[in-house]
Amino acid sequence: MNAHCRDCEADQDHCHGTVIRHTLWRSECTEDGCTAPELIGHTYVMDCDAVGCACGQPMGSADVLAS
Ligand SMILES: [Zn+2]
Ligand SMILES: [Zn+2]
Ligand SMILES: [Zn+2]
Repeated sequence: MNAHCRDCEADQDHCHGTVIRHTLWRSECTEDGCTAPELIGHTYVMDCDAVGCACGQPMGSADVLAS
């Protein structure tokens, strides 16, 4: 896999997972056991709506057509 990550070689505290940034909740990391899901040392960051999370959407937004 990625055996030659710069941060690994430098023994930096970091993570190879992807951080998902939620609007309402704490950021979370896709890596099991990640101890620092708050962006520190993460190469990949994405907003939660990119993974189908709706926490950034206001209640009753346009997607909800039932009434
Ligand atoms: Zn690394
Ligand atoms: Zn979210
Ligand atoms: Zn992580």
